[in-house]
Amino acid sequence: MKTFDVLIVGGGIIGTNLFSLLARNGVKVALLEKEDDICGLVSRANSGVIHAGYDPRPNTLMAKFNVEGTKMYPQMCKRLGVDFVSCGSLVVAKKEDKKKLEELLNRGKQNKVPDLEILGKKDLQKLEKNLADNIEFGLFAKTAGIVSPYEICVALAEEGVLNGGKVFLNFEVKLIEKQENGKFVLSNGKEEIAAKFVVNCAGQHAAKINDLAGAKHFKMNFVKGEYILLDKAEKGFVNRPVFPLPTEKGKGILANITTHGNILLGPTAFPCKLGDTSVTLEGINKIKQDVLASVKQPNFRKTIKLFAGVRVKSGSDFNISRDEKQKNFYYAVGVCSPGLSAAPAIAQHFLHLLKEDGLKTKKIIVKKRKPYTNTEKLSEKELDKLIKKNPNYGKVVCRCENISQGEILEALNSPLPAKNIDAIKRRLRPTMGRCQGSFCRPKLVKILSDFYKTKEEDVTLNGKGSEIVVGNIKGGIQ
Ligand SMILES: Cc1cc2nc3c(=O)[nH]c(=O)nc-3n(C[C@H](O)[C@H](O)[C@H](O)COP(=O)(O)OP(=O)(O)OC[C@H]3O[C@@H](n4cnc5c(N)ncnc54)[C@H](O)[C@@H]3O)c2cc1C
Repeated sequence: MKTFDVLIVGGGIIGTNLFSLLARNGVKVALLEKEDDICGLVSRANSGVIHAGYDPRPNTLMAKFNVEGTKMYPQMCKRLGVDFVSCGSLVVAKKEDKKKLEELLNRGKQNKVPDLEILGKKDLQKLEKNLADNIEFGLFAKTAGIVSPYEICVALAEEGVLNGGKVFLNFEVKLIEKQENGKFVLSNGKEEIAAKFVVNCAGQHAAKINDLAGAKHFKMNFVKGEYILLDKAEKGFVNRPVFPLPTEKGKGILANITTHGNILLGPTAFPCKLGDTSVTLEGINKIKQDVLASVKQPNFRKTIKLFAGVRVKSGSDFNISRDEKQKNFYYAVGVCSPGLSAAPAIAQHFLHLLKEDGLKTKKIIVKKRKPYTNTEKLSEKELDKLIKKNPNYGKVVCRCENISQGEILEALNSPLPAKNIDAIKRRLRPTMGRCQGSFCRPKLVKILSDFYKTKEEDVTLNGKGSEIVVGNIKGGIQ
């Protein structure tokens, strides 16, 4: 049986942060993920905001890990070679709501958030030209930023693998047993893997994993967040996340940016069932109406994608702890927003607990992750040189995002190789542009089938059951 020091269940932003951290500390660690790639659930569909930390109630784990995690992001992104857009964030308010902004500012100060200030109309107009006419004040949080959450998860997982960690994809943990020697054995029904320590980072399924391990039982609620994504042509409509005043229900509908220059509007907050990522007319209409509380009318005709993510809640705070009943078992349950911002600090906390409980770490020479080539960022001269060396960089596969076959082959040869179309998308963005894959998806099917020497009919969107091509009518994709 394969044996490790630590097993992490779940490859979202919490699991991949911990995976990379443990691997870089010389720990024999494995990440078990039920999907065909990491970052397939909540961590891929969110607002991508690294929150400054003024929103969570003081003296909560949310507040603590949010502020600590946000501080770590710029450095972490630099290390991984992924973008961190240091744009700050705004919460905007009408004249009569200034007091509420001041309350938020005070909460931020209690949470020790640096660089917060309330701006008046003139200063706001210098930052954003499309605020709603009745907006008079805004809380500017300088330390907030924007990331691409799936690119970060991929980069962290790759960094973990480069430094000795192992990732088991398509490994759905279905059974957890404790042996007499104190080790846990985790099984997917076919294969068993053992370790002394287990950390449950299974997101929406975290309560179930706790139950399987005989650890503390949690009741979970799910809240759906729908989004409208606008084409890059709308770049500049806002230049940072612009929030309305938060309410009991959450942070409200924001007008936001992505690291790649799109405008992102949403999310809604409707109670839902586990795994419900459907987009509804009710949700879309709510976004269209509520966003107008903060900004002028966006150009909804430039919509390129509707999607939804599911928040996971269990009580009013994160539940991040070592289990009291089950020795050497740890869990992150109910990690809703700001979980993305908090993730690096949550990983540090788990490392601290594990060390307290006897996990041995060792100094290793940490290998640096090499980011993928981005031909769009190269000068013409640099691109010419690259194409001469390897003509695959001259074959454009995704026209909208300008991604070449050479870049895609890098994702297939990476430390955690992409095995399906969504996995390539999370690494490089083909199918995420204006045409949403109409042009490049057939080419991606062909590249994947050639690379893995499988039939085109066996290539999937995101794992078994999501095959794209049903039959071969004209001798395959040319
Ligand atoms: C609409 C929305 C907007 C948000 N916006 C923000 C934001 O702007 N900023 C912010 O800081 N936070 C935000 N969040 C919160 C943030 O996205 C989450 O806190 C974070 O992604 C949770 O990550 P996770 O790793 O816990 O869960 P996940 O990403 O869901 O990862 C859990 C993983 O566990 C795997 N898994 C589950 N069961 C098993 C099993 N049995 N065996 C093996 N693997 C298993 C899953 O497949 C999954 O990959 C938002 C959330 C939502 C829904």
